[in-house]
Amino acid sequence: MKFATLASCFERLEATSSRNDMIAILARLLAGTSPDEIGIVCYFVLGEIGPGYSGVTPGIGDRTAAAAIALAAGVDLASVETAARKLGDYGDVAASLAWSAPEGPAEPLTVTDVHRGFMEIAQASGPGSADRKMRILAAMLAAATPTERRYLVRLATGKMRLGVGDMTLLDALAEAFLGSKAERPPLEHAYNISSDIGLVARTLLEEGLSGVLAIPVTLHRPIRPMLAQRVSRISEIPERIGSPVIAVEEKYDGERIQAHKDGDDVTLFSRRLIDVTHQYPDIVRHVRRCVTADTAILDGEAVAFDHEIGTYHPFQTLMRRRRKHRVREVASEIPATYRVFDLLYVNGEPYLHRSYPERRAGLEAILSPDEQISPADRILTGDLDGIRSFYLSCIERGLEGIVCKSCADDSFYRAGAREWQWIKWKSDYGTELVDTLDLVVVGANAGRGKRAGTYGSVLCAAYNHEEDIFQTVCSMGTGFSNADLADLPRRFADVRVDRQPARVMVTPQAAPDFWFAPARVVEVLGLEITESPVHTCNWDPERRRGLALRFPRFVRWRDEKSPEAATTTAEVVAMFRRRREGG
Ligand code: ATP
Repeated sequence: MKFATLASCFERLEATSSRNDMIAILARLLAGTSPDEIGIVCYFVLGEIGPGYSGVTPGIGDRTAAAAIALAAGVDLASVETAARKLGDYGDVAASLAWSAPEGPAEPLTVTDVHRGFMEIAQASGPGSADRKMRILAAMLAAATPTERRYLVRLATGKMRLGVGDMTLLDALAEAFLGSKAERPPLEHAYNISSDIGLVARTLLEEGLSGVLAIPVTLHRPIRPMLAQRVSRISEIPERIGSPVIAVEEKYDGERIQAHKDGDDVTLFSRRLIDVTHQYPDIVRHVRRCVTADTAILDGEAVAFDHEIGTYHPFQTLMRRRRKHRVREVASEIPATYRVFDLLYVNGEPYLHRSYPERRAGLEAILSPDEQISPADRILTGDLDGIRSFYLSCIERGLEGIVCKSCADDSFYRAGAREWQWIKWKSDYGTELVDTLDLVVVGANAGRGKRAGTYGSVLCAAYNHEEDIFQTVCSMGTGFSNADLADLPRRFADVRVDRQPARVMVTPQAAPDFWFAPARVVEVLGLEITESPVHTCNWDPERRRGLALRFPRFVRWRDEKSPEAATTTAEVVAMFRRRREGG
């Protein structure tokens, strides 16, 4: 496939304001793609060059991109920078700049050529690599048409922003090869256990649905984590879980870590499926030392436990380890303990379809625990009193709460899902009137008066999982420190787009001055949820009403969360109903 075909499809995707059109455009594109290319096309659509977990990125910053544009166009760097200041995007600069160098050779770029180029860029390392990366990009730009250049630069700098989410792409694959987007679930399952949409697409094209159903759990390929629901009152937990026996586990405030052990080879993945092995050399050692099975996949939490004073350090302390340099020194200052709460695979056998009690028994059988690595502490109970008293003892020990887990026969590990088999209860839920939500920022209004020059408020949305779109819940302007406020334009500079993104639903009254591609997540505290004609969360087209969060206040940025991991509209509806029913 010519890269020009893909680039013009990207243009159409950018121009559409409907998610259904997006799916139709993508389905047509995918249907005409060969098995060698379909994986690459999927990665490119998502703005990547390989599966997210592989960590393979071109790693080109704006300055290198500017230098490549200048070299390819035969103009000086200053004129590239001037155009960038005016247009705000190096992709647009590459597309619009008058090219004084001769236009590229007659041979058009193919999708595979471009992928090969980006892989070479990604693999360039050592002295002189920045220059090598720049030259490879310049060579591709020199051979490209203006539209191709726009997307080459955006792919290189990691700023594609087409607004296509994983679920939209899976819908398009289902429509292209299985006849309808209603056929998405088996594809979604394969994606949830492989985290590689390119692999799912290639298998679907080459081997059909039966091939997709046979995609196995594989070591060193992360499984998308199962997530916990929440309730507004602790008393709702037994009924919601609906199993006579409930496991109540300690809830740790650390970093979610999925550990893959393959003999001595250990890989660790974060909640966003990023390879964080190098950040936790101590956990790698603990897994090697104490997991007796030859191969295994564990799910758990890395926590900073201070054995001297017998208490946990907060999450922020652990986050100081998110660094590239001095990892070992920081690891010895803040040693990490691994509290394991699930077992997903052992000695070649996936455990996802086993019940929680079976998985837990399997975990205890292959882990010889010590101070550094151990299964999550828990109790088994059948009633609310048991849950309450364990919760209180957790809080006394400095933990943030509990996670209750179903012990029913169907308590499988539901990769990527947030269902009622797991329910979390935290100390900050105690104030019954207050809810915190993790919302996606989709726009902002210009600041006035004291806030001139920055944003006055940001428009926040919940994620509608069924429709794979973002629906607004509130506009938030309070709770920010002066420094947070001043920093807003910088924080959102790289996600600013010039029109309403296709997967964002907004009423005309709520339309913001500036639009952002759904990318950044913020934790928001609110007083209550009410019906509203202004916000589109759970929008009822007949009554022209949605749900809104009243008195929203900024709590903190949740940069570790993807937009699709934000609070869902279904969760907002559940909160609204419970309040109304006298919660
Ligand atoms: P979520 O992960 O549910 O989207 P979040 O990132 O805001 O939400 P929390 O609301 O604090 O996190 O709760 C869920 C997280 O709690 C899990 O993702 C996991 O990292 C952590 N956790 C700690 N202890 C446990 C446990 N025993 N079982 C499951 N998860 C646990």
